[in-house]
Amino acid sequence: MEKILEKKRVDDWVAALTGYEVHAPALEEGIWGYQPINGPIRLDHTNTKQPPKEFAFPQREVFFSFEQIKGEAPRLKQVMPSGPRHAVFGVRPCDGRGVPRMDKVFNDHAQDAYYNARRKNVAYVGLACNKPPSANCFCLSVGGSPVSTDGLDVQLTDLGDRYFVKAITEAGKDLMTAAGKLFADPSAADQKQLKQVHAAAVAHPQRAVNNPDQAPAKLKASFKSPLWDELAQACIGCGICTFLCPTCHCFDINDEVQGKAPLNGQRVRTWDNCQFPDFTMHSSGHNPREGTGARLRQRVCHKFQYFYENFGMHQCIGCGRCITECPVGIDIIHVVNKVVENAG
Ligand code: SF4
Ligand code: SF4
Repeated sequence: MEKILEKKRVDDWVAALTGYEVHAPALEEGIWGYQPINGPIRLDHTNTKQPPKEFAFPQREVFFSFEQIKGEAPRLKQVMPSGPRHAVFGVRPCDGRGVPRMDKVFNDHAQDAYYNARRKNVAYVGLACNKPPSANCFCLSVGGSPVSTDGLDVQLTDLGDRYFVKAITEAGKDLMTAAGKLFADPSAADQKQLKQVHAAAVAHPQRAVNNPDQAPAKLKASFKSPLWDELAQACIGCGICTFLCPTCHCFDINDEVQGKAPLNGQRVRTWDNCQFPDFTMHSSGHNPREGTGARLRQRVCHKFQYFYENFGMHQCIGCGRCITECPVGIDIIHVVNKVVENAG
C-alpha cells in the first residue's frame, strides 16, 4: 500500500490511532528521545539518543512474583507484559534493521515469551533518512541503507510538504487503514520524486567499515592481537556504548526480596553490560575478561564476527551512537578497520 499524506495531516493520523499508544521523538534538554505523544508530532529529529529497543526489551522487567510461607509450597505468579499496542513513529532505517536482529536473539535457541509478548504489540513507523542524521552514520557499509525498510511496518519518506507513506507489513496497513481518508494516492510525479530522494540519500557520503565481509575471519585471526589493549586503553568501562546500542541485549536476572517473613519478592530481568569489569567475574574471583582490551574485543567481535557466524549478518547496523556518545572517543569503525587491516 503506497499513499501520500500532507505533513499538516500527520497529527490527524495520530489522533485516529485510538487503539494505540503513540510514541515519537521529542526534544528535551537538547536530547532526542522517544516519548508518548503529547502535542503535535515532530519528525524533524536527527536520531534519538536511545534506540527504540526498549519497546520490546525494557531496561527492567518483572518475570514473576514469589511467596514462600514456611511449610508450604512456594507460590509463583507470572507477570506477563500487558497494555495497549504501541505505534512508534520516526524510527530511523538503521534502528529498523536492529529489530530483526533482536528478534533472532530472543527466538534462536529458545523463544523468550516476555520479549515476544511486547514485540507483537509494537508497530514501527520508520522515517527514511534523506541525508545521514549523524556524522558517524555508516549504515551502507554494514549492508543497510538510509532508505531500508527492514524491520519497519511503515516507511515515511519526506517529500517536502508531504510524506510518501508505504506499508511494509500487515500491521503497517492497519495503521494506515485506521485513517484511510487522510491519505491520497501517489501521482506519477510523487513516485518520480520518491526515486530521486532515495537515490540522493543512498549517494550521500558516509563513514565506512572497510571490507566488512572480511571482518569475521580477520577478527577471528586477531583474537590475541595486542591491538585490543592498545585501542581500549582509554576505556573507562562506563557501558554507554552498549546501553545505547540498538542491538546490544545482555541481561541479568535477579530475585529482589521484599520481605522475609514470609519470604516474598520478584524475579526481575535488567540490562547488563559486557563493558563492565564484573560482567564475567566468576565466583572464584577469576575474571576471563579482566582488562579493557578483552572487553572491547568482546563487543566488537560480537558485532562483526560471532553474530555473523551464527546468523550470516553483522549485528552492528551502523547507527554510530557508540562513537558519538563514548566519552573517551573510542570509535568502532576505527577499531574494526585497524584490526582487520593489521590482520593482513
Ligand atoms: S562508551 Fe567508551 S569508555 Fe564507555 S565502555 Fe564504551 S568504549 Fe568504554
Ligand atoms: S555497535 Fe555502535 S554503531 Fe553499531 S549498532 Fe551498536 S551503537 Fe550503533
